[in-house]
Amino acid sequence: MIADSLNAIKRDLPENVTLVAVSKTKPVSLIMEAYDAGQRVFGENKVQELVSKYEEMPKDIQWHMIGHLQTNKVKYIAPFVHLIHGVDSLKLLKEIDKQGKKHDRIIKCLLQFHIAEEETKFGFDVSEALEMLRSDVFKELLNIEIIGVMGMATFTDNETQIRKEFKHLKEIFEHLSSEFFKNASFNTISMGMSGDYKLAIEEGSTMVRVGSSIFGSRN
Ligand SMILES: *Cc1c(COP(=O)(O)O)cnc(C)c1O
Repeated sequence: MIADSLNAIKRDLPENVTLVAVSKTKPVSLIMEAYDAGQRVFGENKVQELVSKYEEMPKDIQWHMIGHLQTNKVKYIAPFVHLIHGVDSLKLLKEIDKQGKKHDRIIKCLLQFHIAEEETKFGFDVSEALEMLRSDVFKELLNIEIIGVMGMATFTDNETQIRKEFKHLKEIFEHLSSEFFKNASFNTISMGMSGDYKLAIEEGSTMVRVGSSIFGSRN
């Protein structure tokens, strides 16, 4: 079942789009079905769950932290995390840098932007992010690498609205790319979930985070 869903999704993905299989709340036995079907990139949104799955599962998995990350929990995932999607403050970035240094790693990060109408979603406003990127403090962070942006659209059936929000994130990406990150490694736009990943790809996503369409709905 899981292998079938996974293959159906992968069949339609353009080559330049990475599929993050969002395995939060799902047991290792189910996640291993996706692993055995060839999937190696998984996303979790809680630190404790991410750490215990990392410890239990094969070591060639790339684990992505896709949820809101508290500064005091960075230390638990710093040794192994492949990509942190939800960076939304300088304080958090400084801690990731500090932990990266401690583990002699450069930790890859995405800047999360607030693109939805809902108040509850985390993320930078553009002006806040620009201020951070222009600061001297930011330039001193050598153990992090910003490789792109991440955002979540409003939870709605209104396709026009969702497209507008994805377009906005794409524009932010282009802006940051031309002003701050001219290097080729700034190449990731993480947008799109089970309900909207096809729209997201049409609007320029290079990384989709899909959970329920692979593993079934969560409680
Ligand atoms: C849970 C989650 C997803 C996946 O959601 P589905 O609708 O199950 O595909 C994607 N991104 C983030 C940040 C999530 O927390």
